[in-house]
Amino acid sequence: MALVVKKFGGTSVGSIDRIKKVADHAARARAGGSDLVIVVSAMAGETNRLFALASELSEAPDVRENDALVATGEQVSAALLAIRLNAIGYPAISFLAHQMPVQTDANHGRARIKSIGCDRVRAALGAGRIVVIAGYQGLDEHGDITTLGRGASDLTAVAMAAALKASACEIFTDVDGVYTADPNICPKARKLKRISYDEMLEMAGLGAKVLQLRSVELARRFNVPLVVRSSFNEEIEGTWVGHEDQSMEDVLVSGVALDQNQSKITLTGVEDVPGLAARIFGPIAGAGIVVDMIIQNASADGRTDLTFTVARGDLRAALDLVKTMANEIRARGVRHEEQVAKVSVVGIGMRSHAGVAAKMFQVLANERINIEMIATSEIKVSVVVNSKYGELAMRALHDALVDDKPEAGGAQTF
Ligand code: ADP
Ligand code: ASP
Ligand code: MG
Repeated sequence: MALVVKKFGGTSVGSIDRIKKVADHAARARAGGSDLVIVVSAMAGETNRLFALASELSEAPDVRENDALVATGEQVSAALLAIRLNAIGYPAISFLAHQMPVQTDANHGRARIKSIGCDRVRAALGAGRIVVIAGYQGLDEHGDITTLGRGASDLTAVAMAAALKASACEIFTDVDGVYTADPNICPKARKLKRISYDEMLEMAGLGAKVLQLRSVELARRFNVPLVVRSSFNEEIEGTWVGHEDQSMEDVLVSGVALDQNQSKITLTGVEDVPGLAARIFGPIAGAGIVVDMIIQNASADGRTDLTFTVARGDLRAALDLVKTMANEIRARGVRHEEQVAKVSVVGIGMRSHAGVAAKMFQVLANERINIEMIATSEIKVSVVVNSKYGELAMRALHDALVDDKPEAGGAQTF
């Protein structure tokens, strides 16, 4: 019998009525003969509400206790769905991370999965039950509750699909697939039939939260066929994420992503000698802060300016470290801009075509948007702009660079 993992996000389980609809969907799939594992997120808004409660009590809540708090959202939705399934005559059982267990490291708030125990899940499936799993949670080696990072119910779902060798992992959400840009920002965005793991990785890493970054990494590593679908209309086909094929390379730019959660720090007048970058970035990495774009430009007086970006949530901690460092290395000063946006165009076709970056700069120039930083890789070009122009830049780049013709064919080639 085919085993399918289905994940329902916050909006999809956001009310009692929505939970009933998810149960009805599961019942139909079960009646059609599938073994089912359903991973759920917390009800829409719940995780944010829990984070906000903690921050009313502490500026920097204790990370262990915070995880114990925010993991409860998924406990509620998992139990509610299992209650409904049992009530409509489909035997179901819910599991929390510690009941399986989903074993993680002890990095609270961004724990990594080390292993998943599947015995209880398999036994329940064998007994004909639908298994409902609370996403986002883990258990560390001390027996403490961890969480896997924002949006990481996707990761729980892909990890379950990999562990159980499911035939597919279906991510049900409030859009009906992966679009060429966030359809809530870009009215002309078009739904993709297929996207390669590599492109989806870039898109997710660059701010397209439709799939959580690490879930895509894991899907690629374990060859999990992944499909993003609408939880409101199951007739619609969705977007398949998989290995690239020849025809995908014909598309130059497959999508545009926007990350509005970036900040920029500049260290001015740094002495231009070997080893300084290592001294500056060592402690930042040591504090677990991910530095994204970096530019360094030397001036005529033998000193350089060093500019880099971090996620906005890490700005305060990064600034504290950089200010201490600036004193030690006698830099001239530290500046920062809290609200910057990163806009990126992504496409595997860029590997073999030049000129995307130049076109991109022209489009932004036409809109009179100033580019503050630029970074390129094989399949993407990113620019940093002032936050207030982020959405405008995304729309302009999308409309100028993304092909508006739907892909030919659409055959599934996994
Ligand atoms: P869920 O709660 O179901 O996990 P998310 O809010 O995490 O849902 O992800 C879905 C959202 O992702 C959409 O509502 C959309 O605004 C956003 N999004 C960003 N980029 C894209 C894109 N390229 N294609 C589709 N949705 C996108
Ligand atoms: N509930 C968690 C969050 O809001 C995980 C998820 O929704 O995937 O981040
Ligand atoms: Mg999500």
